[in-house]
Amino acid sequence: MSEYDLVVIGAGPGGYVAAIRAAQLGMNTACIEKESRLGGTCLRVGCIPSKVLLESSERYVHAQTLAEHGIEIAGAKLNLAKMLERKDQTVDGLTKGIEGLFKKNGVAHYRGHARFESANRIAIESADGTETIGAKHVLIATGSRSAALPGVELDGDRIGTSTEALSYPTVPEHLVVIGAGYIGLELGSVWARLGARVTVLEYLDRILPGMDSEVAKEARKLFQKQGLAFKLSAKVTGARAKGKRCTVVIEGQEDLACDRVLLAVGRAPNTENLGLETVGVAVDERGRIAVDEAFRTSVPGVYAIGDVIRGPMLAHKAEEEGIACVEGILSGHAHVNYDAIPGVVYTDPEIASVGKTEEQLKESNVPYRKGLFHFRGNGRARALASPIGFVKVLAHEQTDRVLGVHIIGPRAGDLIAEAAVAIEFGASSEDIARSSHAHPTLAEALKEAAMAVTAKPIHA
Ligand code: NAD
Repeated sequence: MSEYDLVVIGAGPGGYVAAIRAAQLGMNTACIEKESRLGGTCLRVGCIPSKVLLESSERYVHAQTLAEHGIEIAGAKLNLAKMLERKDQTVDGLTKGIEGLFKKNGVAHYRGHARFESANRIAIESADGTETIGAKHVLIATGSRSAALPGVELDGDRIGTSTEALSYPTVPEHLVVIGAGYIGLELGSVWARLGARVTVLEYLDRILPGMDSEVAKEARKLFQKQGLAFKLSAKVTGARAKGKRCTVVIEGQEDLACDRVLLAVGRAPNTENLGLETVGVAVDERGRIAVDEAFRTSVPGVYAIGDVIRGPMLAHKAEEEGIACVEGILSGHAHVNYDAIPGVVYTDPEIASVGKTEEQLKESNVPYRKGLFHFRGNGRARALASPIGFVKVLAHEQTDRVLGVHIIGPRAGDLIAEAAVAIEFGASSEDIARSSHAHPTLAEALKEAAMAVTAKPIHA
């Protein structure tokens, strides 16, 4: 039986990054993955393919608006098959890249389904039979899957999850999206841009729960202008398909007819069929694995990170946890600053946030000042023909320490990196405001929002 210092279960962004870091730090490491391709949901059927389609569909829209830049082209045409092929090729390239990184770093890769036989022995079941390996430490990084909704009959075709919505063979005529969160808005945007009528149904009276509400309000206004229709306070209780037609049932409202349904009401942790009960790994009331701040489960030597534990289900959050966990095993110190983990919705415009929202500060009675700067005062945004949205900086009233930054606007997902670094370093809004930002860049909007916290921005 092969013996390892660390066995990682799951090769998503949390698991594969942890495995590589462990090997770099000298641990004899193995990683078990049941899918034929490495990279987890993020690479295979999540972040990466959705970003490819978001990019392609955005270019399709831009191609139709080039006339305002003085470029006249004859009728841009959609070749959906080619667009989907490019997405698949990008995914293939990246998953092969991880295989290469495993080889380069000496991580042993096992293909099959992992199950605990004991805290130190893992059985790997595959088409070739069952093999057992031993481990001093085991890290569970098995991720999550689309959450089901009672009454919604997923058929893997007309009524599906994000996985199906990444590969519709034709543009839907009317796509109904259940859930106005990250997935619903990103994939709803893709298909709306490609020509579908899109209706988004949301249980709450707002979109993007958890995001700063001023930003979410602005987002809804902009998405509506792009043609997305929203029905808020709409609780979906059922959906069924008959042939090519689907019916969506909303509590207290008329049924909706459409030809495709995308269910995007969150994700559920993958904790079943791992043998957790065999070794006594405790899960919480929501089925997530309970861990302490160093990612230790209730069983000594067994750790968990990423979507299977508490916190936002984000690839980069899992990566931070994976690295911290492995370093913690070796050094005794593991730390992740959750206040400095950004969240990004890759719509047009992008929406990005890090730290506390205004609502959170109000709820916890933290005195704060707010600086706001609109992209319409930013020269680069105008050159990009994208002078929409704003940057909002929230800083402590007395100490001026940056507590939260929220951006809706062009390239918000890239701009938020500076804000995350500022929070990680404990910067004040004055630190950002006094740092030189190249002109003309979108980043100047963050500088001006920071200036607006204690003084006045120049271009507003
Ligand atoms: P989400 O939690 O972001 O949004 C789900 C939405 O569905 C919520 O607004 C919720 O109120 C609504 N909802 C729940 N039940 C409903 C019902 N019966 N009827 C109508 N609406 C209902 O979940 P998601 O969009 O499915 O994304 C899942 C996870 O994947 C998220 O945790 C997210 O962090 C992650 N993700 C991240 C990105 C990114 O980082 N860009 C992209 C996609 C997914």
